[in-house]
Amino acid sequence: MKKLIIEVRVNEYAMRDENPNVPWTPDEIARDAAAIQAAGASILHFHARKPDGSPDHAYKAYAAVIRAIRGASDLMVHPTLGQITIQGDEARVAHIPRLAEDPRLRPEFASLDLGSTNIDIYNPEAKRFLTTNKAYVNTTETLIYLAKRFKEVGVRPVVVCWSVPFVRAMEAFFDMDLLPSPAYALLVHTGGGQFGGHPPTPAGLRAFLDVLPPGRPIEWSVSSKPGNLFPTAAQAIQLGGHVAIGVGDNPYTELGAPTNAELVRRVVEMAESYGREVATPGEARRMLGIAPR
Ligand code: ZN
Repeated sequence: MKKLIIEVRVNEYAMRDENPNVPWTPDEIARDAAAIQAAGASILHFHARKPDGSPDHAYKAYAAVIRAIRGASDLMVHPTLGQITIQGDEARVAHIPRLAEDPRLRPEFASLDLGSTNIDIYNPEAKRFLTTNKAYVNTTETLIYLAKRFKEVGVRPVVVCWSVPFVRAMEAFFDMDLLPSPAYALLVHTGGGQFGGHPPTPAGLRAFLDVLPPGRPIEWSVSSKPGNLFPTAAQAIQLGGHVAIGVGDNPYTELGAPTNAELVRRVVEMAESYGREVATPGEARRMLGIAPR
Protein backbone atom coordinates (compact mmCIF):
# COMPACT_ATOMS: atom_id res chain seq x y z
CA MET A 1 0.00 0.00 0.00
CA LYS A 2 1.19 3.55 -0.68
CA LYS A 3 2.89 5.42 2.14
CA LEU A 4 0.92 7.53 4.59
CA ILE A 5 1.27 11.33 4.48
CA ILE A 6 0.81 12.93 7.89
CA GLU A 7 -0.04 16.64 8.03
CA VAL A 8 -0.06 18.40 11.40
CA ARG A 9 -2.52 21.21 12.08
CA VAL A 10 -0.38 22.66 14.83
CA ASN A 11 -2.38 25.58 16.20
CA GLU A 12 -5.42 26.95 14.29
CA TYR A 13 -6.76 29.70 16.57
CA ALA A 14 -6.71 27.41 19.63
CA MET A 15 -5.95 28.91 23.02
CA ARG A 16 -4.16 26.99 25.79
CA ASP A 17 -6.89 26.53 28.39
CA GLU A 18 -7.54 22.89 27.46
CA ASN A 19 -4.13 21.94 26.04
CA PRO A 20 -1.08 24.05 26.99
CA ASN A 21 0.97 22.58 24.09
CA VAL A 22 -0.47 24.82 21.35
CA PRO A 23 2.46 26.61 19.62
CA TRP A 24 1.93 30.30 18.83
CA THR A 25 5.27 32.05 18.20
CA PRO A 26 7.71 31.24 15.35
CA ASP A 27 10.13 29.68 17.87
CA GLU A 28 7.41 27.50 19.37
CA ILE A 29 6.21 26.41 15.92
CA ALA A 30 9.82 25.66 14.88
CA ARG A 31 10.30 23.41 17.94
CA ASP A 32 7.12 21.57 17.01
CA ALA A 33 8.29 21.33 13.37
CA ALA A 34 11.48 19.49 14.36
CA ALA A 35 9.59 17.22 16.76
CA ILE A 36 6.76 16.29 14.40
CA GLN A 37 9.14 15.59 11.52
CA ALA A 38 11.16 13.28 13.79
CA ALA A 39 7.88 11.58 14.70
CA GLY A 40 6.80 11.03 11.06
CA ALA A 41 4.98 14.14 9.74
CA SER A 42 5.64 15.69 6.33
CA ILE A 43 3.34 18.77 6.14
CA LEU A 44 2.80 21.54 8.71
CA HIS A 45 -0.36 23.68 8.64
CA PHE A 46 -0.25 26.83 10.78
CA HIS A 47 -2.02 30.06 11.62
CA ALA A 48 0.28 33.01 12.40
CA ARG A 49 -0.41 34.14 15.96
CA LYS A 50 0.67 37.01 18.20
CA PRO A 51 2.60 36.24 21.42
CA ASP A 52 -0.73 36.51 23.31
CA GLY A 53 -2.32 33.98 20.94
CA SER A 54 -4.49 36.43 18.99
CA PRO A 55 -4.56 36.08 15.16
CA ASP A 56 -1.79 37.85 13.23
CA HIS A 57 -2.49 38.17 9.51
CA ALA A 58 0.53 40.35 8.65
CA TYR A 59 2.86 39.21 5.87
CA LYS A 60 5.79 39.58 8.30
CA ALA A 61 4.22 37.11 10.71
CA TYR A 62 3.78 34.42 8.03
CA ALA A 63 7.31 35.02 6.73
CA ALA A 64 8.78 34.67 10.23
CA VAL A 65 6.97 31.37 10.85
CA ILE A 66 7.98 29.89 7.47
CA ARG A 67 11.63 30.90 8.03
CA ALA A 68 11.51 29.27 11.46
CA ILE A 69 9.89 26.04 10.17
CA ARG A 70 12.44 25.72 7.35
CA GLY A 71 15.31 26.43 9.71
CA ALA A 72 14.21 23.51 11.85
CA SER A 73 12.83 20.93 9.38
CA ASP A 74 12.23 19.77 5.78
CA LEU A 75 8.46 19.86 6.22
CA MET A 76 6.18 21.16 3.49
CA VAL A 77 4.45 24.34 4.63
CA HIS A 78 0.72 25.10 4.52
CA PRO A 79 -0.26 28.54 5.91
CA THR A 80 -3.88 29.50 6.45
CA LEU A 81 -5.74 32.16 4.48
CA GLY A 82 -7.20 33.55 7.68
CA GLN A 83 -10.60 31.94 7.11
CA ILE A 84 -13.34 34.34 8.22
CA THR A 85 -11.01 36.66 10.11
CA ILE A 86 -10.20 38.58 6.91
CA GLN A 87 -12.79 40.03 4.56
CA GLY A 88 -12.27 40.31 0.81
CA ASP A 89 -10.55 37.93 -1.62
CA GLU A 90 -7.46 40.00 -2.22
CA ALA A 91 -6.87 40.79 1.45
CA ARG A 92 -7.35 37.12 2.39
CA VAL A 93 -4.87 35.87 -0.14
CA ALA A 94 -2.43 38.83 -0.31
CA HIS A 95 0.29 37.17 1.79
CA ILE A 96 0.46 34.08 -0.44
CA PRO A 97 1.67 35.71 -3.72
CA ARG A 98 3.97 37.95 -1.71
CA LEU A 99 5.53 34.96 0.08
CA ALA A 100 5.72 33.11 -3.25
CA GLU A 101 7.94 35.85 -4.75
CA ASP A 102 10.80 34.64 -2.54
CA PRO A 103 11.70 30.96 -3.12
CA ARG A 104 12.87 30.75 0.50
CA LEU A 105 9.41 31.73 1.70
CA ARG A 106 7.15 30.28 -1.00
CA PRO A 107 4.73 27.91 0.77
CA GLU A 108 4.09 24.55 -0.86
CA PHE A 109 0.36 24.84 -0.10
CA ALA A 110 -2.50 27.23 0.59
CA SER A 111 -6.08 26.31 1.49
CA LEU A 112 -8.86 26.38 -1.09
CA ASP A 113 -12.18 25.60 0.65
CA LEU A 114 -14.41 24.67 -2.30
CA GLY A 115 -17.73 25.98 -0.94
CA SER A 116 -19.53 27.67 1.94
CA THR A 117 -20.88 26.46 5.27
CA ASN A 118 -22.24 27.67 8.63
CA ILE A 119 -19.70 27.17 11.42
CA ASP A 120 -21.52 28.33 14.57
CA ILE A 121 -21.01 25.95 17.49
CA TYR A 122 -23.99 24.59 19.43
CA ASN A 123 -23.84 24.05 23.19
CA PRO A 124 -26.34 21.30 24.11
CA GLU A 125 -26.09 22.00 27.89
CA ALA A 126 -27.09 25.62 27.38
CA LYS A 127 -29.45 24.66 24.51
CA ARG A 128 -28.12 27.48 22.38
CA PHE A 129 -25.57 28.33 19.70
CA LEU A 130 -22.49 30.18 21.04
CA THR A 131 -22.72 32.42 17.95
CA THR A 132 -25.41 32.70 15.30
CA ASN A 133 -23.74 34.54 12.43
CA LYS A 134 -20.54 32.66 11.56
CA ALA A 135 -20.89 31.75 7.90
CA TYR A 136 -17.71 30.68 6.10
CA VAL A 137 -18.54 32.07 2.67
CA ASN A 138 -16.53 31.27 -0.46
CA THR A 139 -18.39 32.27 -3.61
CA THR A 140 -17.56 30.51 -6.85
CA GLU A 141 -16.07 33.79 -8.06
CA THR A 142 -13.73 33.83 -5.04
CA LEU A 143 -12.73 30.20 -5.56
CA ILE A 144 -11.89 30.71 -9.23
CA TYR A 145 -9.89 33.81 -8.29
CA LEU A 146 -7.96 31.97 -5.57
CA ALA A 147 -7.33 28.87 -7.69
CA LYS A 148 -5.96 31.01 -10.54
CA ARG A 149 -3.78 33.08 -8.20
CA PHE A 150 -2.31 29.96 -6.59
CA LYS A 151 -1.57 28.45 -10.00
CA GLU A 152 0.09 31.67 -11.21
CA VAL A 153 2.42 31.87 -8.23
CA GLY A 154 3.25 28.16 -8.02
CA VAL A 155 1.47 27.31 -4.77
CA ARG A 156 -0.55 24.08 -4.56
CA PRO A 157 -4.09 24.21 -3.19
CA VAL A 158 -5.12 22.04 -0.28
CA VAL A 159 -8.64 21.37 -1.52
CA VAL A 160 -10.60 21.62 1.71
CA CYS A 161 -13.99 19.85 1.63
CA TRP A 162 -16.44 20.36 4.50
CA SER A 163 -19.26 18.34 2.93
CA VAL A 164 -20.44 16.53 -0.19
CA PRO A 165 -21.08 19.67 -2.33
CA PHE A 166 -17.44 20.74 -1.86
CA VAL A 167 -16.24 17.35 -3.12
CA ARG A 168 -18.61 17.51 -6.08
CA ALA A 169 -17.24 20.96 -7.03
CA MET A 170 -13.80 19.38 -7.52
CA GLU A 171 -15.07 17.91 -10.80
CA ALA A 172 -15.65 21.40 -12.24
CA PHE A 173 -12.30 22.70 -11.00
CA PHE A 174 -10.48 19.74 -12.55
CA ASP A 175 -12.44 20.38 -15.74
CA MET A 176 -11.39 24.07 -15.79
CA ASP A 177 -7.77 22.96 -15.30
CA LEU A 178 -7.62 24.77 -11.95
CA LEU A 179 -6.53 21.75 -9.89
CA PRO A 180 -3.12 20.05 -10.08
CA SER A 181 -2.46 16.38 -10.63
CA PRO A 182 -2.75 14.90 -8.14
CA ALA A 183 -5.00 17.20 -6.12
CA TYR A 184 -4.48 17.00 -2.35
CA ALA A 185 -7.94 17.08 -0.73
CA LEU A 186 -8.70 17.47 2.97
CA LEU A 187 -12.00 15.86 4.03
CA VAL A 188 -13.14 17.83 7.10
CA HIS A 189 -15.02 16.10 9.91
CA THR A 190 -16.45 18.13 12.78
CA GLY A 191 -17.52 16.76 16.15
CA GLY A 192 -19.00 18.39 19.21
CA GLY A 193 -21.52 21.09 18.42
CA GLN A 194 -19.86 22.00 15.12
CA PHE A 195 -22.18 20.92 12.30
CA GLY A 196 -20.24 22.48 9.40
CA GLY A 197 -18.52 19.25 8.38
CA HIS A 198 -19.30 15.54 8.36
CA PRO A 199 -19.46 13.68 11.68
CA PRO A 200 -16.18 11.90 12.54
CA THR A 201 -17.75 8.49 12.01
CA PRO A 202 -17.42 5.72 9.39
CA ALA A 203 -20.62 7.00 7.73
CA GLY A 204 -19.19 10.54 7.66
CA LEU A 205 -16.05 9.51 5.79
CA ARG A 206 -17.91 7.05 3.57
CA ALA A 207 -20.26 9.82 2.39
CA PHE A 208 -17.26 11.88 1.23
CA LEU A 209 -15.62 8.94 -0.53
CA ASP A 210 -18.82 7.95 -2.29
CA VAL A 211 -18.81 11.22 -4.27
CA LEU A 212 -15.08 11.64 -5.03
CA PRO A 213 -14.97 12.45 -8.76
CA PRO A 214 -14.17 9.12 -10.43
CA GLY A 215 -11.05 8.88 -12.56
CA ARG A 216 -9.53 12.09 -11.19
CA PRO A 217 -6.09 12.05 -9.53
CA ILE A 218 -6.79 12.76 -5.85
CA GLU A 219 -4.79 12.09 -2.69
CA TRP A 220 -7.23 12.60 0.18
CA SER A 221 -6.65 13.17 3.86
CA VAL A 222 -8.95 13.41 6.90
CA SER A 223 -9.21 15.89 9.80
CA SER A 224 -11.59 16.45 12.71
CA LYS A 225 -12.16 19.92 14.20
CA PRO A 226 -13.19 19.53 16.91
CA GLY A 227 -13.43 15.87 17.78
CA ASN A 228 -11.20 12.83 18.20
CA LEU A 229 -9.82 11.90 14.75
CA PHE A 230 -8.42 8.47 15.63
CA PRO A 231 -11.41 6.29 14.59
CA THR A 232 -11.64 8.15 11.25
CA ALA A 233 -7.84 8.06 10.89
CA ALA A 234 -7.90 4.27 11.30
CA GLN A 235 -10.49 4.01 8.56
CA ALA A 236 -8.54 6.38 6.26
CA ILE A 237 -5.30 4.46 6.84
CA GLN A 238 -6.98 1.20 5.79
CA LEU A 239 -8.63 2.79 2.73
CA GLY A 240 -5.46 4.39 1.33
CA GLY A 241 -6.13 7.93 2.55
CA HIS A 242 -3.88 10.23 4.59
CA VAL A 243 -4.16 11.87 8.02
CA ALA A 244 -4.17 15.55 9.13
CA ILE A 245 -4.20 15.85 12.92
CA GLY A 246 -3.12 18.37 15.55
CA VAL A 247 -3.80 20.06 18.86
CA GLY A 248 -4.99 23.07 16.83
CA ASP A 249 -8.05 21.08 15.79
CA ASN A 250 -8.77 19.27 19.04
CA PRO A 251 -7.12 19.43 22.51
CA TYR A 252 -7.29 15.63 23.01
CA THR A 253 -7.81 16.07 26.77
CA GLU A 254 -9.01 12.41 26.79
CA LEU A 255 -5.40 11.51 25.86
CA GLY A 256 -3.91 13.78 28.54
CA ALA A 257 -3.55 16.92 26.39
CA PRO A 258 -0.61 15.60 24.29
CA THR A 259 1.86 17.55 22.15
CA ASN A 260 1.58 17.55 18.36
CA ALA A 261 4.55 15.15 18.17
CA GLU A 262 2.83 12.74 20.57
CA LEU A 263 -0.26 12.75 18.32
CA VAL A 264 1.92 11.98 15.29
CA ARG A 265 3.58 9.08 17.13
CA ARG A 266 0.13 7.61 17.85
CA VAL A 267 -0.86 7.91 14.17
CA VAL A 268 2.41 6.24 13.11
CA GLU A 269 1.85 3.36 15.55
CA MET A 270 -1.66 2.91 14.25
CA ALA A 271 -0.46 2.97 10.62
CA GLU A 272 2.20 0.38 11.37
CA SER A 273 -0.38 -1.86 13.01
CA TYR A 274 -2.27 -1.83 9.68
CA GLY A 275 0.95 -2.47 7.74
CA ARG A 276 1.15 1.03 6.31
CA GLU A 277 4.52 2.81 6.23
CA VAL A 278 4.81 6.56 6.79
CA ALA A 279 6.18 8.92 4.11
CA THR A 280 9.16 11.17 4.80
CA PRO A 281 8.80 14.80 3.64
CA GLY A 282 10.80 13.89 0.50
CA GLU A 283 8.59 10.89 -0.26
CA ALA A 284 5.43 12.92 0.37
CA ARG A 285 6.66 15.55 -2.10
CA ARG A 286 7.09 12.93 -4.80
CA MET A 287 3.66 11.44 -4.10
CA LEU A 288 2.06 14.89 -4.40
CA GLY A 289 4.09 15.89 -7.47
CA ILE A 290 5.90 18.71 -5.70
CA ALA A 291 9.50 19.49 -6.72
CA PRO A 292 12.22 19.12 -4.08
CA ARG A 293 13.39 22.31 -2.44
ZN1 ZN B 1 -6.24 26.19 9.72
